Amino acid sequence: MRIGIISDIHGNLPALETVLEELKKRNADVVYCLGDTVGYGPFPNECVDLVRERCAQVLKGNHDSGLVGETPLEDFNQHGLKAIVWSQKQVTRENQEYLRGLPFTAVENSLTLAHSSPFSPEAWTYILSMRAAKENFAAFSTNLCFIGHTHVPVIVGEDSSINKFKKNGRFIINVGSVGQPRDGNPDAAIGMYDTELGVYNLVRVPYDVERTAKAIIDAQLPEFLATRLSQGI
Ligand code: ZN
Repeated sequence: MRIGIISDIHGNLPALETVLEELKKRNADVVYCLGDTVGYGPFPNECVDLVRERCAQVLKGNHDSGLVGETPLEDFNQHGLKAIVWSQKQVTRENQEYLRGLPFTAVENSLTLAHSSPFSPEAWTYILSMRAAKENFAAFSTNLCFIGHTHVPVIVGEDSSINKFKKNGRFIINVGSVGQPRDGNPDAAIGMYDTELGVYNLVRVPYDVERTAKAIIDAQLPEFLATRLSQGI
């Protein structure tokens, strides 16, 4: 089975449409979304609609949680906060109820899925150190755990290896971000895992950044949210 894993779409519809097209071309059998479908970007409701239609599993991210009034808004930076307040007016009541009902973690096809971390998914902690990774390896029982949240793709091994994926090992895999990559590469990031071959690939897909940037400006969202997209920061 070929599994596509996407995360941190952040209301970026052109990026989402492009990666779903790419996953179709690559014959993905199923797509899982690790959350933060909304926030920052100008098409939050359209992205929720599309994710609902196309993803077999969808998790709740901190921006989804903030939008529906669960995660306190003071936890967000000024740009994030502005975009969440704007997005609250764009996302339909029905889609807000859908976001509210999403799980923090899931296990699908013997793969653990989480937005931020399997250890403390509701605290939205970032796995940025080996110490944090260690604590998290103890918190799931499958070989692989897929996460997002930092917007920076990386593969951490239980043996503390970095970006050295191999079949049958235990890894926490950050698939990066579809709608707001922060690793210096503006192309949308997606993860693809082949369960039969035991092969994982990070795929980068260029999309129409200008269309999203223009819509951010037109919506009078903070300009930085538009300019950062072309820089991948
Ligand atoms: Zn995010």
